[in-house]
Amino acid sequence: MAEAGSFADRVKQQADIVRVVGEYVRLKKSGQNFTGLCPFHAEKSPSFAVHPTKQIYHCFGCGVGGDVFKFVMEMEKCAFPEAIRIVAEKCGIAVPRQKERSPEERKENQQRSVLVEMHREAQTFFVKQLEGTLEGKAARAYLEDRGLDKDAISQFGIGYAPSGGDALLRHLKSKYNEKLLVESGLVSRDQSAGRLFDRFRRRITFPISNESGKIVAFGARALGDDMPKYLNSPETPIYSKSNVLYHMDRAKDALRRQDFAILVEGYMDAIAVARAGISNVVASCGTSLAEPQIKLLQRFTKRVVVNYDPDTAGQAATERSLSLLLEHDFEVRVLALPPVGDKKADPDLFIRERGKEEYLKLLKEAPPYVDYLIARARQMDLTTGEGKLRAVNFLLPYVQKIPNRILRSEWATRISQQLRLDEPVLRAALSKAAAERRSEVKTQPELAGRAAKPVERRLIRMLAEAEGFRLELAKHLQNAHLYHGLETEKIFAALVIASLSGQPVLATEVGAVLEDRDRRLLFEILFEEANEPTWEEAMSCIEALQNRQAERELADVQRSIEANPAAPELRGLLEKKQELMRRLAAAR
Ligand SMILES: [Zn+2]
Repeated sequence: MAEAGSFADRVKQQADIVRVVGEYVRLKKSGQNFTGLCPFHAEKSPSFAVHPTKQIYHCFGCGVGGDVFKFVMEMEKCAFPEAIRIVAEKCGIAVPRQKERSPEERKENQQRSVLVEMHREAQTFFVKQLEGTLEGKAARAYLEDRGLDKDAISQFGIGYAPSGGDALLRHLKSKYNEKLLVESGLVSRDQSAGRLFDRFRRRITFPISNESGKIVAFGARALGDDMPKYLNSPETPIYSKSNVLYHMDRAKDALRRQDFAILVEGYMDAIAVARAGISNVVASCGTSLAEPQIKLLQRFTKRVVVNYDPDTAGQAATERSLSLLLEHDFEVRVLALPPVGDKKADPDLFIRERGKEEYLKLLKEAPPYVDYLIARARQMDLTTGEGKLRAVNFLLPYVQKIPNRILRSEWATRISQQLRLDEPVLRAALSKAAAERRSEVKTQPELAGRAAKPVERRLIRMLAEAEGFRLELAKHLQNAHLYHGLETEKIFAALVIASLSGQPVLATEVGAVLEDRDRRLLFEILFEEANEPTWEEAMSCIEALQNRQAERELADVQRSIEANPAAPELRGLLEKKQELMRRLAAAR
């Protein structure tokens, strides 16, 4: 909760939820609100809304909702203090030094920033080696041969790690202790002798930046025949392979603008594609996409063209990535480049040999993933029953991963037609896969399904918004116990208490004291299109509630009468019944 006057409160006052959420979700103006695809559940049409004046978000599909901090906490999977910091930074609000951090946290943070600084220095060092040394000259010749000129080299910060074995170590040693050097992953320790040496030797270096553009690791390609051909930084306190997509820091804008990403395997491919003028490219920098990378990507787009290497490893990586992307409801196409001469072509080679126009053309024509999969299945021997079964078993898992039932069933039909799988057993297997989807129950959002009566909805809205007569209205409701027993009782109670305090009523604060299902209903009501409330309307709503209360009482009395009470009680009950009936008749 943001204490009044606290830093959190100040950030909340200044932060624009539309802008912050807009960095994660593509939002469109719709009436008084902004809407987009919910980042918390898979959906095809937008049910996620952001309210610019109330500064809240709400998903009509899965029911999540809250203020800007809650949103960032959920998105970044971080704690409240961290969320405040992130929001403040996004909105350009200076963050005061934090005193409340634990000593361990402070130490970790310090260590992280030292490691980032060390990477910056290593980057400068590698670049100098490429530019100004004899060894570097050979590396430059190699790069030129690969079509990377001076411009490209400086644009992507390409450098060179010399062969000596301790050049970088000597450069960094005076400033950092051994423990930090090893932790950075830039330096390794010889297992037997305990001696330190450079991790990257005689290699072209490619800085790998995190999403915000800070260098957190390096990828390095052997200049000669050293193995492995590609060597990356190990996992360190600032780098986790599965959390980073190469080129993401530079691709963000283009991803939003173009609303699709080209996913390639290595940094050379990403550089080649970006150099061809296609900036919405990212590289998974490993054999296959990882879940956190997908989460990162889906903040910008849910459409991907997978363009991995055409070799066996690349195919396997394509298929693993496909299956993960489908699970997250991405729209996926696959670009399988034709060979250049007799060489299988990765994007880098293809663009160098065939030019960017040709690449762009193929990119535009890249088929949906299902066509790619069917083509792959067709390469199997389909003449025998056994072969067909293998093909079906290859395709089944993908069909099962499609979250949309109708799509799933369409693909199943199409696959059995295209592969001529007319055997009833195989057809049955496909349609069974189409019908059942193991994780479906899990991903299907629980629907609110609570229908508050229009009168209740209207009064709730008025309590939240009618600055002019909110207090008066709250008193009326309170004194006549009008909301007791309603399904919306808790929402009313929270709003009435907030209104009676005489302070401004903030949706997020009222929402914070409610149980989730009530908070959901409240937000739903706040997002409805509605007219300016008037006191007359408020009074007629109150009257309607009074009548409903009378009807409920009348029903109670009737039940008691029918239960055959003793005579003196019966008399009282009958009188009560008369009175209630009079009241209801007068109201009509
Ligand atoms: Zn949702």
